[in-house]
Amino acid sequence: MQLKDQSLLRQQAYIDGQWVDADGAATIAVTNPATGEQLGTVPNMGADETRRAIEAASKAWSAWKKLTAQARAAILRKWYELIVENADDLALLMTTEQGKPLAEAKGEVTSGAGFIEWFAEEAKRVAGDTLQSPWQDKRIIVTKEPIGVCAAITPWNFPIAMITRKAGPALAAGCPMVLKPAEATPFCALALAVLAERAGVPPGVFSVVTGAPKEIGAEMCANPVVRKLSFTGSTAVGALLMQQCAPTIKKLSLELGGNAPFIVFDDADLDAAVEGAIASKYRNAGQTCVCANRLYVQDGVYDAFAEKFTAAVNKLKVGNGVEQGVTQGPLIDEKAVRKVEQHVADALAKGGRLLTGGHRHALGHSFFEPTVIADATSDMVVADEETFGPLAPLFRFKTDDEAVALANASEFGLASYFYSRDIGRVWRIAEGLESGMVGVNTGLISTEVAPFGGVKQSGLGREGSKYGIEDYLVVKYICLGLG
Ligand code: ADP
Repeated sequence: MQLKDQSLLRQQAYIDGQWVDADGAATIAVTNPATGEQLGTVPNMGADETRRAIEAASKAWSAWKKLTAQARAAILRKWYELIVENADDLALLMTTEQGKPLAEAKGEVTSGAGFIEWFAEEAKRVAGDTLQSPWQDKRIIVTKEPIGVCAAITPWNFPIAMITRKAGPALAAGCPMVLKPAEATPFCALALAVLAERAGVPPGVFSVVTGAPKEIGAEMCANPVVRKLSFTGSTAVGALLMQQCAPTIKKLSLELGGNAPFIVFDDADLDAAVEGAIASKYRNAGQTCVCANRLYVQDGVYDAFAEKFTAAVNKLKVGNGVEQGVTQGPLIDEKAVRKVEQHVADALAKGGRLLTGGHRHALGHSFFEPTVIADATSDMVVADEETFGPLAPLFRFKTDDEAVALANASEFGLASYFYSRDIGRVWRIAEGLESGMVGVNTGLISTEVAPFGGVKQSGLGREGSKYGIEDYLVVKYICLGLG
């Protein structure tokens, strides 16, 4: 991989401002999912290195929180600028270790940087309150303070944005952060650390520990110095981390699984709905927690939608993300491919009708054909479980109430989408859907400006927007006697 600035590719972890190997020098390999080629290694660290990073964060905390918000914002602003300046290299690094097409990777670098810029600005707007006192001789003041040392565990599907949406608000609020990135995509995280260092983020304020998820996670959860954990990943791991954090009563932000419904009503602009469904379903090869997982199409437009949608899916170009014009890269690994295969086989065994795709792609490795299955039904695995791959099952429904009931028949509640042009219906359905986010007449909703997060088993807390920084603050009540 030829970067313009080769120093962005680091194969060591970053703890307390130092580039370090694991105790014992163990490493784990990082591979390119499009070719199977090994790109390099990162240290395989565990509890001891994590504890050192937490101790360093604790030491760095008092100076970092005492800086004025403006001073922290200036450093974050510099970090943002460096990410944008190095966008081409970061995008190439991302496509190479994660697989998404270069254009998508570039988009993520820009939007990921946006979280740092946004929270650099929000840092200056953290404000408390003075409340009406019930006493003549006392005043009530409410301040907001940084919660303390934060830990973060991030997934591989957005190797940059999932980090910046946590580190941005944490650092802005005055909290240091220790990060464990996903094993598959550590190079993006380490490149972010290189740029943080160059931006002037002090040692210990942002550390990256690579390696064994269980050991690092267990230390982050058990260590009483850590006051907050922010996690994005599967619901099963989120539940485990919540349990592990219980003894030390940590504050939690959990952004977990989704199973997004995408509803097309009979008054929808079908071309727009097709465009939205393609963007929502096949972005990142279907590997996002807000990807449409269940497409519900009203009876009257079902066949027309299925036809237009399938035609659009057939135009997608599968290939190595670094190649020009590719719109769908490989899945992250073999396990991911097997899950899509199982969902396809289950749907076809239960009466699903294959409209296109359905198989591993001729390119081999972890490439999979963009797939559409009609006549999907509620007894299929795809109705309950996130596929996290390029499979679109089309369910048929008749009434609005039925659509809402089907959409809500899930333990998840992250994103949902629907297409309609009737304002009354739009309002009713948006209110009726049990999800943290609703896209109306659009398949793309993510931005640093809006609160991202779920309800039910999709998680706790919000990332991005003015709400995002609150997750890293605690309220302090000061009762001031005047005597
Ligand atoms: P995915 O299936 O998307 O990889 P995971 O929840 O397994 O979702 O992974 C998300 C993140 O959680 C990754 O950084 C992974 O290393 C980490 N992780 C997985 N298992 C554990 C665990 N037991 N403790 C802490 N972190 C974990």
